[in-house]
Amino acid sequence: MTKTIQCISPVDGRVYAERSTLTLAEAEAAVERARQAQIDWAERPLAERIKLVKAGIAALSAMKERVVEELAWQMGRPTRYGGEFGGINERTDYMTGIAAKALAPVVVEASDRFERRIEREPHGVILVVAPWNYPYMTAINTIVPALIAGNSVVLKHASQTLLVGERLAEALHAGGVPGDVFQNVVLSHDVTESLIGQRAFGFVNFTGSVGGGAAIEKAAAGTFTATGLELGGKDPGYVMDDADLDAAVDSLMDGAMYNAGQCCCGIERIYVHESLYDAFVEKAVKWVGALKLGNPFDADTTIGPMANRRFADTIRGQIDDAVAEGAKALIDPALFPADDGGAYLAPQILVDVNHEMRVMREESFGPVVGIMPVADDEEAIAMMNDCDYGLTASLWTNDADRAARIGRRINTGTVFMNRCDYLDPALCWTGCKDTGRGAALSALGYMSVTRPKSYHLKKVTK
Ligand code: NAP
Repeated sequence: MTKTIQCISPVDGRVYAERSTLTLAEAEAAVERARQAQIDWAERPLAERIKLVKAGIAALSAMKERVVEELAWQMGRPTRYGGEFGGINERTDYMTGIAAKALAPVVVEASDRFERRIEREPHGVILVVAPWNYPYMTAINTIVPALIAGNSVVLKHASQTLLVGERLAEALHAGGVPGDVFQNVVLSHDVTESLIGQRAFGFVNFTGSVGGGAAIEKAAAGTFTATGLELGGKDPGYVMDDADLDAAVDSLMDGAMYNAGQCCCGIERIYVHESLYDAFVEKAVKWVGALKLGNPFDADTTIGPMANRRFADTIRGQIDDAVAEGAKALIDPALFPADDGGAYLAPQILVDVNHEMRVMREESFGPVVGIMPVADDEEAIAMMNDCDYGLTASLWTNDADRAARIGRRINTGTVFMNRCDYLDPALCWTGCKDTGRGAALSALGYMSVTRPKSYHLKKVTK
């Protein structure tokens, strides 16, 4: 059965796009086409696949104006930020640049008697399930290495960003990637899970919520399909007594508020050494007060609506509960007249918070941050680890040894010193605890989109 999926624009509530989902039979046929097309794709030389993928990403860059406008309508990101092209190009350049080395066989012996080596074999058909918050970057993290490694890719994008998969398909096909090697499909959850349960894919990369990740893992159970699950976060910042205070405020507040706080590695909790706490809070309040909430098409808007009214309702609930439990909200909503009680939400800073409060435990994924004083590194480590998630932690200090020492004791996939909210394509993007398990980007990203295959070729019979 097909159903209609609508993208309701957070800008003004209009139905911006709608598409019908594929039936299970149509989806199975799409996967079968992907399976057939992959055979020829994998036989093409690596250099050719790299060239075509790069041409596809270049074609996407050529659509920049349209992409930026559509992003604003679909998920509210202000047009002044120009889309995600910085990250898209940085990641594509890096992943294409390392492909030959990362995918090269490990040769154990190449003699007259034996050839013994481990090659990297593409999985076949890879399913990418992508979220709306950085809808291009999160998708290309897997699509680019998957295609380069010789897989075909089926993309199921988020309902909130229905058009993103279409643009990616248009661009990659324009670059020369065959239509059946990269397919964008509109799928219901049921059909997605049925396909996974039938072992339709060699690998599934899911980026999204913890609940969604658990559903995918359940769908894959018993099929032994490899899964990469890149899920939620509740990322902390820790400002030590020797930190550069202005840099810490600037970066951590940007990490908390950019994209209306809808970043998987956005800063959601800040712990500040008690000697700097008052000054940090004062500067942070000033920083947030300078934001401009409004229509994402206005040139001076720095914070747009949240992608969907229901996300803003979650944040309002977390703030109300925290205040009822004794937290103090430091930002006067009157400073943000565009807050309409719907998708447009005034940013907020909460103090006098504790870890009993939802806002300090549950993922917010919005423009709110709680700030707490801490006495020393031990208390900060305990606070940072007192969390169900494990994506990143951001440490602010002039002492790299101290940061590394603390970093070793923090349960996250990434430790930053003096920066935050960034994906370094040369490093593995990964997490632990409820953030799931995966390894995207970097040379390890190529290990996720391939499997090892051993060749033991004996050239002599005696
Ligand atoms: P979501 O509701 O889980 O949706 C993510 C994607 O998964 C969408 O395409 C969604 O489709 C699909 N989906 C969800 N449940 C599914 C199921 N049972 N079967 C098939 N598809 C399913 O998450 P979201 O609200 O879009 O994204 C925000 C979340 O993503 C946050 O928790 C954030 O932290 C996380 N995130 C993590 C990373 C990371 O790298 N760790 C990066 C970005 C975002 P529909 O839209 O059609 O429901």
